[in-house]
Amino acid sequence: MNLHALTAHALLDLFKSGKASAKEAYEAVVGRIKSIDPKVKAYVHLSRSQPHYAGEFQIPIAIKDNLCTKGEEITCASRILKGFRSPYDAGVIERIKKSGGSILGIVNMDEFAFGSSCETSCYGPTFNPWNLQCVPGGSSGGSAASVAADEAMWALGSDTGGSIRQPASFCGIVGLKPTYGRVSRYGLIAFASSLDQIGPLTKDVRDCALLMNIISGYDERDSTSVNEPVPDYTRALVNDVRGLKIGIPKEAFVEGLDAEVRRAVESALDLLKKQGAVIKEVSLPHTPYAVATYYIVATAEASSNLARFDGVRYGLRVQPGKVRKNALVDMYEETRSKGFGDEAKRRIMLGTYALSSGYYDAYYLRGQKVRTLIKNDLDQVFKDCDVIMTPTSPTVAFKVGEKVSDPLSMYLSDIYTIPANLAGIPAISVPCGFSKSGLPIGFQLMGRAFDEEMLLRVSYTYEQNTEWHLKKPTI
Ligand code: GLN
Repeated sequence: MNLHALTAHALLDLFKSGKASAKEAYEAVVGRIKSIDPKVKAYVHLSRSQPHYAGEFQIPIAIKDNLCTKGEEITCASRILKGFRSPYDAGVIERIKKSGGSILGIVNMDEFAFGSSCETSCYGPTFNPWNLQCVPGGSSGGSAASVAADEAMWALGSDTGGSIRQPASFCGIVGLKPTYGRVSRYGLIAFASSLDQIGPLTKDVRDCALLMNIISGYDERDSTSVNEPVPDYTRALVNDVRGLKIGIPKEAFVEGLDAEVRRAVESALDLLKKQGAVIKEVSLPHTPYAVATYYIVATAEASSNLARFDGVRYGLRVQPGKVRKNALVDMYEETRSKGFGDEAKRRIMLGTYALSSGYYDAYYLRGQKVRTLIKNDLDQVFKDCDVIMTPTSPTVAFKVGEKVSDPLSMYLSDIYTIPANLAGIPAISVPCGFSKSGLPIGFQLMGRAFDEEMLLRVSYTYEQNTEWHLKKPTI
């Protein structure tokens, strides 16, 4: 039996019946990493801590390089954090450990989560397990690739504008961005604090519900964490969508959407209709402004969050050759110019500009106003619909190197995923087919705030009636 290839819930069943042990599962997956990862390059490094075999959910997990994990080097895939060893566990890591999970290792990402391809990492790119010439998506590319390649049973990622859902879709797995406030951000190295959420990347919908049970809940150390009861998400796993209303935004199926992606999402919709869901065309008139709004708000917050990386407190410090202005300022400048990559510098410049006096009202404030309009559009649709369905990404995975020199076309990969972050609502990506070239396609469902259960229910029904989630890449 290939234990590394199983879902977490299948493993838990085996543990219960005594047919396999957590130790065997851990060793199987580490063996898999050693044989496959030289090709996929999902991992930045394996964990320094020993696995522990106690607790209810002894499932090994891969952790994105921006989640503080005690004793591990955590760098956000940036040179500027090289050598930073986290002195504490993020809220989600505490919960994982308490539940019995062992940390397999730290996985790759775009530098500071800026990107959609996992190519801006200081460690070099991760490759898509379905085609090693393609990107795995980003920024949680290492998380998605490790799960798709059976190098982890499941993984945690973070999603600011699509960074869980888009790589999940590119790698043929399930990825959920929870409602803002559902999962504690304590110990997540911030990109854009009003948009970031941590969430699961898993092999199927049941695992997604299980991992949500583990990581969700109030944390007083995150002032935006919401003190609402957490349901048992596995109760939402019912194969029944009869009478549920699915909204299809007319703005989503337009120019720029790849024909194969469109076809796959439309057949998924047909299947849900046959299962008894009611389909309704809706309109989200402000969504065409979502990408522009996001790149104002997200870069503004990023420029402010990145100000703390100055060579004094964390990671890298570069001393200037000779003093030009004064020793301290020169050190800041040297450290930041050598430490940040090109995309991080681009975002700092864009964000600083949008926040500077004289431009603040024209860009940042206006961006926040448009954000409200986008949220109002969604609220309006959710008065009548239970979920909204779109593709997750307009294309399948692209070739490594294809978009690095064209940031604007890279930014457009997030056209479907960004509105959920701007509005703070939950959204999931579920595998729904393959392109002729053999690359996975995913659809996205968005739901009402704190209604992850509805997303899980619709996704589960779809999954129970299809077999996409059972397909594995040959590496
Ligand atoms: N790709 C988007 C960006 O570059 C989203 C990234 C994310 O969700 N972290 O900002």
